[in-house]
Amino acid sequence: MSKLQAARGTRDLYGQDKLKMKKVVEVGSCVVERYGFEEIETPVFEFTEVFARNIGETTDIVSKEMYSFEKSGDNLTLRPEGTAGVVRAFVSNGMQRQLPLKFYYHGPMFRYERPQKGRYRQLTQFGVELLGVESPQVDVEVIAMAYNFLEELGLAGKVVVEINSLGDAESRDIYREKLVTYLKGHYENLSEDSKNRLEKNPLRVLDSKEDCDKEIVANAPLYSESLNEASKAFFADVIKGLDNLGIKYRVNDRLVRGLDYYNHTVFELVTDKLGAQGTVLAGGRYNGLVAQMGGGDVAGIGWAGGVDRLALLLDDDIEVARPVALIPTGDDVYDKAMEIAYNLRKAGLKIEYSYSGNFKKRFEKANKVNASKAVIIGADELVKGEVVVKDLDSGEQKNVSLEKLIEELS
Ligand code: ATP
Ligand code: MG
Repeated sequence: MSKLQAARGTRDLYGQDKLKMKKVVEVGSCVVERYGFEEIETPVFEFTEVFARNIGETTDIVSKEMYSFEKSGDNLTLRPEGTAGVVRAFVSNGMQRQLPLKFYYHGPMFRYERPQKGRYRQLTQFGVELLGVESPQVDVEVIAMAYNFLEELGLAGKVVVEINSLGDAESRDIYREKLVTYLKGHYENLSEDSKNRLEKNPLRVLDSKEDCDKEIVANAPLYSESLNEASKAFFADVIKGLDNLGIKYRVNDRLVRGLDYYNHTVFELVTDKLGAQGTVLAGGRYNGLVAQMGGGDVAGIGWAGGVDRLALLLDDDIEVARPVALIPTGDDVYDKAMEIAYNLRKAGLKIEYSYSGNFKKRFEKANKVNASKAVIIGADELVKGEVVVKDLDSGEQKNVSLEKLIEELS
């Protein structure tokens, strides 16, 4: 029998952990809405082919991380990432006439990986997708927006922007050929995974986390040397745009990203504070993806932030609003006390109603929930249409009429 605990790689989120996760999503939503992005919610599961075909068969995600199942003959998969679902929604709903479109999403993703700090089997992502604009101006805008997001979380000092260009299809072909020639010279020392990738998708070898591969990759041909003129010009515009905004970045020639659908600009926001789980946000351009899904020639660019990892970087506890404790003094006033609590809450106040215990216990509880004030409801005062309001910081107390109570507490 399985023990009564959360499955490996999943977590129960409550208290400060949950508050921090929520803050990341709230700050993200607030920032990207300023850039004109609107929220989209796609299903948590899709037909398996939505992911398998579009993320790429040889990627870690598709080859070993997907939670797939069959139901009534349908092959389904819990979404491992957000982009494929959003693009699928764009195509299914025929949104081509509304371009350009700017969407953001957040929610759980599922990947079967080895759990550790900052790496879970159910993770939360906050992401954006911008469809229908080819100009490098949006690469700049979207990277600036990601940076802005982390700035508003107070994390700008903890991350660096790493950026690279994979160029257009022609550049990618040129590079692939050079890379394959180079890797074949080191075939014997590559990991088994990478030997496979060499056949199917050699670029992914650059993304390998195996030490034996990393040594070989360190001396691999540079991507920048394979970019054609158009790709170089595109990347130069992106760099110029970031310089113009004063956003600091580091060009990382080895950055290729794990998914198949990227071209031109790829980027990651990286921290050294989370060990091997240092990438907190990652994205890039995916001009071919929409066409691959049958949605026509529509350019795309996006990123996804790891909400779990971003929350881990937030050092300071999230402050919660202090409540007002409502303390009835005996059974004779319970109905009236509950009625007052109801009206105060309707007026927008945060009220912690005291259910039981003697007077002393009830005050102890009020302090435990960090109440700023206590409203004491006694039969004698009620006769006069009053209650007692006590400031729990200063200890001062006074009688307040019921009509003035909301005003007094606001
Ligand atoms: P990694 O190299 O760490 O496995 P990835 O390239 O697989 O990351 P993406 O698919 O780009 O990650 O996902 C975007 C972001 O989502 C990552 O930068 C990371 O912050 C977060 N993320 C990815 N996988 C996990 C996970 N298993 N647990 C927690 N966060 C994750
Ligand atoms: Mg991964």
